[in-house]
Formats: sequence, C-alpha cells, structure tokens
Amino acid sequence: MSSSGRTDIAPDRPLPEAPGDLLDRARAAFLGVAVGDALGATTEFMTPKEIRVKLGVHDQVTGGGWLRLKPGQVTDDTEMSLCIARAVSDTGGWNLRAVADAFAGWLRGKPTDVGATCRHGIRNYMLKGRLEAPPNDGDAGNGAVMRMAPVALLTLGDGEALDRLAVEQAHLTHNHPLSDAACRCVGRMVHRGVSGSAKDDLYEEARGLATLHPAFRFDPYHGEASAYVVHTLQTVFHHFFVSSNFEECLVRIVNQGGDADTTGAIAGMIAGAFYGTSAIPGKWLRKLDEAVRSETEAHAVRLARMSPLLANVWPRRNAEMPEDYEGRKGR
Ligand SMILES: [Mg+2]
Repeated sequence: MSSSGRTDIAPDRPLPEAPGDLLDRARAAFLGVAVGDALGATTEFMTPKEIRVKLGVHDQVTGGGWLRLKPGQVTDDTEMSLCIARAVSDTGGWNLRAVADAFAGWLRGKPTDVGATCRHGIRNYMLKGRLEAPPNDGDAGNGAVMRMAPVALLTLGDGEALDRLAVEQAHLTHNHPLSDAACRCVGRMVHRGVSGSAKDDLYEEARGLATLHPAFRFDPYHGEASAYVVHTLQTVFHHFFVSSNFEECLVRIVNQGGDADTTGAIAGMIAGAFYGTSAIPGKWLRKLDEAVRSETEAHAVRLARMSPLLANVWPRRNAEMPEDYEGRKGR
C-alpha cells in the first residue's frame, strides 16, 4: 500500500466457468446484508421470548423496532457497507483514505444508528487523520464484520488480498484480534459461497476460526446474540449451518433477537453468497428500500467484476452488466 492508502488489485486469473452464476451470488451477498439488516432491525435488543409474545414469529419486513424504522429501511450495517462500495467505485480501486472519508461523510449526515466504537474510530480519523485505531480490548464488537461484503466481493479470487483489506477496513474503527479474525473468516465464507463451494467447505472456515480462537466455538450454541463479535458469529454460524435455505436461516436469526440487524446482515451476506438471489424471498425484496436495493445490486456486480476472479472477464472500466447476464437462479 502506498502512503495514499491506495492498492491496486487486478492480477491475472484463469477465467471462471460460469461468471453469470458468480455475479448472481455476488449480488445476493450484498442484497442479503440489506435484507437481513431491514428484517432484523425490528427485533434488535429483544429476547426470543419477547419476540414470541409480541410478534409471534417475526418473518416479514415491517420496520419499527427501537429505531422506529419504516418498512424496508436499513441501518448502519448496510450504510457503512455502501460507504466502502462507493469509495471503491469512486476511486477505481482500494483506497483506505477514501473509505475513511466516506465513513466521515456518513457520520456527518447524522445516521439513524451508529455503534460507539464506529463513532469513536471515525471521529479519530476526522480529528487526527488516523487510518488505524489503536489496539483496544474493548473493540471486540461486530461493527467491522458487518461491513465485510464489499471487501469480500472486491477481492474474490485472492485470499491474501482479502486478509489484508479486511483488516485495513476493520482497523479504521475496530482494532482487536477477535474482530480481525472474524472479518477474515466471514470474508472467506463469502468467497467460498460466491465461488459455488459446498456448505461443508464453509463449515470448515467457521471451524477453522473456532480452532484458531476457541471462544468462537458454536456447537453447542448457547443462544447469546449480543454485539460481541464472538456471540454474533456463534449465532450466525449456528443458524446458517442448521438451516437449509435463505429464508429459514434469516427467520431463525432475527427471532434470536439481540443484535438482530447485524446478525441478520452477516447471515444474509453468507447465506446470500451461498444460495443466490432466487433464494431471497420476493416479499422481502419488494419491501426493501428501492434505492438501497438498486445500489447494493449495482455495487455488488461492479465490485465482483473488479475482483481478481472476474477482472479479466470484463474490462474494469466497462463495469456495466454484460448483455448475456440473465440475473439468474441460485441454489
Ligand atoms: Mg445496525
């Protein structure tokens, strides 16, 4: 990385066999963040019992929640992800300073919700120009993992770039080994999902994280779904691996309550990458804020096409949808 924070990512890679499928799953990964965020915001901070009593089974995009959202409105999870995507898009590659500027612009706009660690890190950048928060035992929240989708899509086909950029973006606000490891792991799961790997392969990634950091063990699952990155990923892993489709995974997640918009966003990212767009219920997509829906889809395709995996399929400068792209069926 140069002093400007700029890194180019475009090594030559062999052509993937089915770029249409890859793009479909890339779109679903980013859409999944927004859908999971919008769905989960309703039950954020509630317990499973409170959800049962008040809502029965929460399985519709209805807004509300403690933030009193409109149906389909998203929160910081999606908004910070879009900040990263716009920064990449605007600068034509990875530029950490542009990401930090986008976060700063977002914070100045008085977002609906912002986590304390994110606010602190962004303020630090605005006041001191720091692109890396100092290591902090209190930074093991899930705020860096929730915005991993654009980083994973930009680095498809290059695990080393993923590891590096995951931590660079994370350290703008969160500098903690558990957060770093979680970001890398979730990014790798998205890589595997978008590439069409089997669920067992995604399980190996999750198990690998638990081997490296035993705190992340998720079997048996103890039902804690807080914003502590360990609880967040235990919740995501448990429900993703015991469910068999996107809808079941997300309904289970958001009815677990706790930090439900963020567990929803991360589960939506992984499940979207794995199952593809056709698996995302139309009733949820139709309720999603239209501007958010179209922007996440457009950025997902653009980022994936800039990635090492797909950069040699279409020229980076010409990042529109290919004419033969059918928007198609997932798994
Ligand atoms: Mg949120």
